[in-house]
Amino acid sequence: MTDCIFCKIVEGKIPSKKVYEDDDMLAFHDINPLAPVHFMIIPKEHVDSLAGCGDEHARVLGRILAMAGRLAASQGLTDGFRTIINTGRVGRQDVYHLHVHIIGGPNPLGRMVTPS
Ligand code: AMP
Ligand code: ZN
Repeated sequence: MTDCIFCKIVEGKIPSKKVYEDDDMLAFHDINPLAPVHFMIIPKEHVDSLAGCGDEHARVLGRILAMAGRLAASQGLTDGFRTIINTGRVGRQDVYHLHVHIIGGPNPLGRMVTPS
């Protein structure tokens, strides 16, 4: 998708700090980390959000989740981490190319959601 910042990262038109790449997915560090380790895993093929997914996305979504633990460990997160997928307006999604945040560090994180 032409105007998508994460598609541009996949295409190498915008630089990123890469964690992992294969035919299906790219993992790269968040430009504005919220914890000592914060990276994202995205499907290379553009998908707006989890809300737009169907059976045709099950394989890549499964692969991304199945890779999460290994990639987290590769970044030093051997004692747990948080996985977040923000979806749509209520989920406060900013970038509309589906991405799985992997967040962690040496210390336990805050509560899962801040009450609104
Ligand atoms: P979300 O709010 O779930 O849509 O998260 C989007 C994330 O993308 C934010 O945490 C941003 O810091 C991150 N982000 C935006 N642009 C870039 C970029 N060029 N490289 C790496 N991360 C980015
Ligand atoms: Zn995209």
